[in-house]
Amino acid sequence: MQGKALVYDMAVIGGGPAGYTAALYAARAGLTAAVLERTAPGGQMAATGVIDNYPGFDEGVEGFLLAQKMQAGAERFGAKTLYAGAAAAELSASPKRITLDSAANGGSSELLARTVVLATGAGPRRLGLPEETALAGRGVSYCAVCDGMFYRGKTVVVAGGGNSAADDAEYLARLCKKVFLVHRRDALRAAPARQRALEAAGVEFVWNSRVAGILHNETVTGVRLATDGPGGATERVLPCDGVFIAIGRVPDTALFAGQLPMDEAGYLLADETTRTALPGVFAAGDARKKPLRQIVTAAADGAAAAYFAGEYLREHPARP
Ligand code: NAP
Repeated sequence: MQGKALVYDMAVIGGGPAGYTAALYAARAGLTAAVLERTAPGGQMAATGVIDNYPGFDEGVEGFLLAQKMQAGAERFGAKTLYAGAAAAELSASPKRITLDSAANGGSSELLARTVVLATGAGPRRLGLPEETALAGRGVSYCAVCDGMFYRGKTVVVAGGGNSAADDAEYLARLCKKVFLVHRRDALRAAPARQRALEAAGVEFVWNSRVAGILHNETVTGVRLATDGPGGATERVLPCDGVFIAIGRVPDTALFAGQLPMDEAGYLLADETTRTALPGVFAAGDARKKPLRQIVTAAADGAAAAYFAGEYLREHPARP
């Protein structure tokens, strides 16, 4: 499959569990499928340590390994991975036209396909501090499992109060000298038993507080904390070597704004068939508005997307 003029049956934007499952089902059904993946396959799954809740692995499975297996499983039936991001997508065109951010399609930076599966997933929500982006990788992290080892024996702050923040604090407490969990409320969203377990592991909670600034030289040296009190907010500096931000996720769907209906948070609107408002365009996985976002539900979306894309292709045969 090379050259500008080739039109794939299916382009999949995003190589996480939704994307590679769509590619697997499509390729196994005899369709040509190309998966666009910017870095490494697996999406959020690849950045997860051991996954215990994906069926079929009685002792759990490393996220990175499961990602590789999903990619290999789709490629076994002929699906291609193009290592590029989508810079633009014309989803109403016929065929649909995706502009790549590099010439990854056999020397071309254009990908044509009769159907498109949008499986871009979600990324970390940012605190929105001016220095945050520049410090990413230099003391600011959004993935404890990926970066925790760099903070062995050091002091870190975890920002957030949901299950991700609790998971990160628990993971980091095994590696770090000291872990502070900074949350803007006076209790975690997680069950009280979880809070007690974290305290027992040595995590120190800083309640009613926000990370209002990140102090740094070359790397992070501390955070400026704003703590709400009866007389208003007070500020203090908490020295630390790293800040792990775990305050939820946002869908990676900005590229499709104006072309497809989304909810107020940016999740794509599609029902269980994954069909969007545009014919031949499907939304699968965490980027879709849905009640439960898990690897297994993303994979299920991918299967549905491929099935209904196949139906669409049969109903709209290619012009000779
Ligand atoms: P989440 O449940 O939405 O929690 C986000 C947390 O960050 C909330 O405590 C929120 O505070 C806080 N927050 C949001 N914006 C903030 C800001 N600008 N500044 C400071 N704090 C902010 O997100 P999540 O923890 O990433 O989890 C996402 C979903 O995955 C949840 O359904 C979760 O249960 C699930 N999950 C499950 C597991 C598990 O079962 N082990 C692990 C990870 C994730 P408020 O409380 O004030 O809103």
